[in-house]
Amino acid sequence: PSRSEIHYFGAGPAPLPTPIIEAGAAAFQNYKDKGIGIAEISHRSADANEVLAQTKEALATLLDIPTGDDGYEILFLQGGGSGEFSAVVYNLVSVWVERRRQRIAQELGDNEEQVLERLREEVQKELMLDYLVTGSWSLKASQEAARLVGSEYVNVALDARKVNGGKFGDIPAESEWNLTLSKGKGPGAALTYYCDNETVDGVEFPGFPAVLEPKGDDNPIVVADMSSNFISRRVNVRNYSVIFGGAQKNVGVTGITITIVKKSLLPPHSKHADPALLRKLGLPVGPIVLDWPTIAKNNSLYNTLPIFDVWIAGQVMRRLLDMYGTEKIQGQEKVSGTKAEMIYRVLEKYPDTYHIVPVKAIRSRMNICFRVGGGDDAKEKEFLAGAEKRGLQGLKGHRSVGGIRASNYNAVELEGAQKLVQYLEDFAKGT
Ligand code: PLP
Repeated sequence: PSRSEIHYFGAGPAPLPTPIIEAGAAAFQNYKDKGIGIAEISHRSADANEVLAQTKEALATLLDIPTGDDGYEILFLQGGGSGEFSAVVYNLVSVWVERRRQRIAQELGDNEEQVLERLREEVQKELMLDYLVTGSWSLKASQEAARLVGSEYVNVALDARKVNGGKFGDIPAESEWNLTLSKGKGPGAALTYYCDNETVDGVEFPGFPAVLEPKGDDNPIVVADMSSNFISRRVNVRNYSVIFGGAQKNVGVTGITITIVKKSLLPPHSKHADPALLRKLGLPVGPIVLDWPTIAKNNSLYNTLPIFDVWIAGQVMRRLLDMYGTEKIQGQEKVSGTKAEMIYRVLEKYPDTYHIVPVKAIRSRMNICFRVGGGDDAKEKEFLAGAEKRGLQGLKGHRSVGGIRASNYNAVELEGAQKLVQYLEDFAKGT
């Protein structure tokens, strides 16, 4: 079949808008009439620098990211979302340790041995990384943190499976979260981590958790994984210390991860700990390619960056800005909401055929997870086969949970959502 005959609902990599694919194919072959393609030029060329600058600018405009001295740095990394599971630990533990060291040095003076001894005690007693585990990806991130620093430093402040019969699919009330910060154990966790949209389980935070809102001097260091709902709705960036996401769902092609980091966590505002000190404390030293200060200092060009990927991301962002004008990301938010509502509405209409996996209040607009015929294997296979016949592809649920998953990313057109709705109707009616 041709592209125009297919609607693809895969969870990532995911479809790109057709005009972007066409422009990308042309740029891949011959970029700006230079006789060479965008993936072939040097990442240090003037053209590459222009691509980087334009993509950063488009993202900052789209999401209203403050970029001044008290704002945020936009970084492009490799290693996927999973790479940032590790990077957040390396970088934010390093910031925590250095802040503690400076405070202790102020109190105790320059006696390095004494400072180290006290620091060691404080690390053992007070270093904590908080994770809100609401689905498979935040679970993985918390496991990576435990692998790197040891589980004694990881506080699973919430395990959503405990309120939902051992499965993901609900988010308990904030009052039930066991945050390090809220227990008054000290100046707070080195990071408080959550995944804004859980791709496998179809669970999305409806908004920013009130309990994590900045409170003057005692701001929690909030990290959010937005891999699967990046640039799909408004975000008050100021609430976050770090936002990251792989490009391969709403933004572009696989190969880059976008990380938005508060400048106050980077030099010169925040020094990161000396690697030798971290080693003495038994804490991990991260690889240089995940070291945000190094990446920031080098304008994301510490090593070879896939400029083609950055270009695609920039084109996608620019297209949204052109499409929605002054509405910016709010325009996309409306469209995403409309498509998701249509699909959920028909699923709800036929409760004998369909069962939506997560509870209503935290259903994802991006990954719509449901079972067919009570999760009967043959019935779900029949559903998928019928969908394929109509050109509706990529609907199979994640291998770890099974079922059906319709991913409703930005590039899924209204027409695609309508065709899926029609199929859901017809299948339920047996026509
Ligand atoms: N976080 C979320 C929410 C994801 O959906 C994924 C992948 O699907 C990841 C992280 C991991 O991303 P990657 O495969 O780029 O490492």
